[in-house]
Amino acid sequence: MKIICIGRNYADHAKEMNSPVPSVPIFFMKPDVAILRPGTPFYYPNFSKDIHYECELVVKINRVGKNIAEKFAHKYYSEIGLGIDFTARDLQLKCKEKGYPWEIAKAFEGSAPLSKEFIDKSELNLEDVQFSMTQNGTKVQNGSSKDMIFKIDQLIAYVSQFMTLKKGDLIFTGTPAGVGPIAIGDELAGSIGDREMFKVRVK
Ligand code: ZN
Repeated sequence: MKIICIGRNYADHAKEMNSPVPSVPIFFMKPDVAILRPGTPFYYPNFSKDIHYECELVVKINRVGKNIAEKFAHKYYSEIGLGIDFTARDLQLKCKEKGYPWEIAKAFEGSAPLSKEFIDKSELNLEDVQFSMTQNGTKVQNGSSKDMIFKIDQLIAYVSQFMTLKKGDLIFTGTPAGVGPIAIGDELAGSIGDREMFKVRVK
């Protein structure tokens, strides 16, 4: 399976990063070992001093598809989860400056905590899936799918032009504003609506 992550998909986050709003989706990938299984702590890696959280809705692909038309994209996923796209911001800044790839900043082991469950999309209003994350009990991020620059169906259509999507692949759909650093001892908890989706301890 593969993990596709969308960058800059919320205008308010692009603004806080001083990045322009893209005209087509930007994506990068994480390897399968990036997934942090529910209940597993995240160990702060020693290669970075500035790991940031980015809480994101996650779409799980449910069948094989290539060059999927946007109007058929809804047939390729049935569940939505929640995750974190951990980012070594210090390494990412260096990569950006030098024009290097982002893998060391984005694709490291454990960089993709994932919710214990996925919600059937029939239970959600896909136009307005509200989600949030707290850090040690304080709400730090709040978002809704309605604020995505590129909607889920557009993302699936776009990405599947470049690579076949397979059952079990995950698409992290981008983060809203409010990203920030984590510290050892933190507890990060994410929810879709009122439903708690994950709790991650930083060790
Ligand atoms: Zn992200």
